[in-house]
Amino acid sequence: MTPHRLPPKADTLMDPVDRLAGVGSRVAAQLARLSIHLIGDLLWHLPLRYENRGQIQSLSPYLIGQSALIHVTIHDARPLRRGKARQVAQGYDDMGEITLWQFGRFGPTLQPGQQYLLYGEIRAGAHGGLEMAQPEIMQSAQHEAILAVYPGTDGLNQSKLRALVDQALTIALQDMDDLLPSTVRRREGWPGLLAALQRIHVPTLSEGIPQRSDPAFVRLIVEELLAHLLALRLRHHELTQECAHKLPSGGSLYQRLLHNLSFEPTRAQARVLQEIHADLDRTAPMLRLVQGDVGSGKTLVAAGAALTAIEQGYQAALMAPTALLAEQHHRNFSQWLTPLGVSVHLLSGQQSAADRRANLAALADGRAQMVIGTHALFQEQVQFDRLALVIVDEQHRFGVHQRLALSDKGTRRDGASIRPHQLVMTATPIPRTLAMSAYADLDISIIDELPPGRSPITTALIRADRRDDLIARISAVCDSGRQAYWVCPLVEDSERIEAQAAESTATALREALPHLRIGLVHGRMSSTDKNREMAQFKAHEYDLLVATTVIEVGVDVPNASLMIIENADRMGLAQLHQLRGRVGRGATASFCILLFDEPVSDKARTRLALMRETQDGFRLAEADLEQRGPGEILGTRQTGLARLRVADLILDEHWLELARNLADELIAENHPHKDALIRRWIGAAQQYGQV
Ligand code: ADP
Ligand code: MG
Repeated sequence: MTPHRLPPKADTLMDPVDRLAGVGSRVAAQLARLSIHLIGDLLWHLPLRYENRGQIQSLSPYLIGQSALIHVTIHDARPLRRGKARQVAQGYDDMGEITLWQFGRFGPTLQPGQQYLLYGEIRAGAHGGLEMAQPEIMQSAQHEAILAVYPGTDGLNQSKLRALVDQALTIALQDMDDLLPSTVRRREGWPGLLAALQRIHVPTLSEGIPQRSDPAFVRLIVEELLAHLLALRLRHHELTQECAHKLPSGGSLYQRLLHNLSFEPTRAQARVLQEIHADLDRTAPMLRLVQGDVGSGKTLVAAGAALTAIEQGYQAALMAPTALLAEQHHRNFSQWLTPLGVSVHLLSGQQSAADRRANLAALADGRAQMVIGTHALFQEQVQFDRLALVIVDEQHRFGVHQRLALSDKGTRRDGASIRPHQLVMTATPIPRTLAMSAYADLDISIIDELPPGRSPITTALIRADRRDDLIARISAVCDSGRQAYWVCPLVEDSERIEAQAAESTATALREALPHLRIGLVHGRMSSTDKNREMAQFKAHEYDLLVATTVIEVGVDVPNASLMIIENADRMGLAQLHQLRGRVGRGATASFCILLFDEPVSDKARTRLALMRETQDGFRLAEADLEQRGPGEILGTRQTGLARLRVADLILDEHWLELARNLADELIAENHPHKDALIRRWIGAAQQYGQV
């Protein structure tokens, strides 16, 4: 590291980066594009790769295609105006010759008669010669180093970035604490923070290029994961310090519900409900995530939880991501709970003003015991009388802030606010360690069993131009008393075109299948119309439902046994799995037909093949994770974990458990570095949960 003269003001890592020497507003803007705002951010801007500049290479055709350090004498240099080239020079060493191109308006040119140490990629030039474009001119002192190559941006060259990182390291020398507890560092044999950063940014030739498994890397990875998990675990810890209504179970409402139903809960449903009941029976708010594959019966578990609250004289709210799903839940819950004397209400954005007013009044005075709604539920004018339980269905569709806003609807007693218990449900099965991290602020229950009597779904892939073959198939299925879905293609950014496609598909199918009753649902219809069509399909007044992907989540019509998905090659695994989950809910054999258009990309081909091969949500989720990365899968919820700087949730998965345990240790002993760790890695402004 070379010492730098710093402007006097730049003395802490929390200073804006423009306090550094050589950073004006232009460079600051370039750095901002790399998410580098503070001086300290430079430290976490880690190299993409390294260049070994420790060895001078002799010019030879063997070097073509490689980056190399060469030592040449210039014997000819001409200015050029042709194209963008400014100068072309000829250089030579003992073994050969090379043509050197300089581009752009700025930077040093090569002078005839001088010797230079140059670094750059060697390419094949004209007439079998060698050439190098835009060689980097090296100082002789630097030729011993392994150089870091950073993720860059236009106009900001590597030597500039290196010089800036170097300045940040110099400041870090005076202004950086090692926040990892030293006991942990010693136990794991990790270097101190500064030593680790030096090793990564400016490796020495004797130590060699650092790999990801190098203790220097590992300690940064673990520290970053620790900071994120700390933030989540702290939130969990803080919320569980708050008060909630203690809701003992053991009443008879749920038993009476089971008695009225035609089925027994599965062992997995019973176990998860027990875990929920144990949580509810405490004065600390429950924070539980129920993960269960499509069709595993999460709704019954939700009903069991709601009845416990209602039985104790409180209200329960269920929030669904779409009006369609809210409506379906409302119908379902009304059917289940009204016979038990429980009043079930619906709150959705599309209700008439009068209906809405009536529902709001019933919520506020406590007549409404159970309410189901979309995000309309957590708007300000919604007042509850005695809300004790909040259930969020398909939670990956919501941001954390929406869930938290609803949990603010608790009651106040003696001036203290009382939090509702929170139950969130998701059908996105992600691997356990990842779930334990991404949802570290929640306790997790898994419904790992499907209700019995489900026959597997046979999945077939069919080229779209053979869709006529399908007509006979739809006819056969519907004539035997079953129902079918036809899902129309997704049209990006245009609900209008999507709706038109759905309408013309419905028209064509009505012509081809005149004896069938065919319904239509798309995103451009009013919610009243959508709900009416859905209700008619559920009541078997339609044989076939033509729909856009609005039916993706939650829709439950057990008599449907055929699902046809157009343009399946353009959909992701999670979405295909969700859509396919709309069939196979009854005892008859079900079919899912995936239509695709040639040519199909390799990735799409892999997805379709996997869909045909398995129905296992976890396997599909893992493949999805590999294809799209955790950021996409976890969605808006975990912007923090999805935007890691050093760690990678997949590459570093095996460190997650250690980091989570460390987080809990630090919280248990109220370690003084907790907040500083979170500030260092997540920042003060970007508080967790404020998505
Ligand atoms: P999801 O987990 O996808 O939300 P649902 O709660 O919609 O699943 O349940 C899917 C279907 O299975 C529903 O028709 C539901 O009534 C039914 N079901 C739920 N639990 C059982 C069970 N234990 N035995 C039989 N059928 C069940
Ligand atoms: Mg559901």
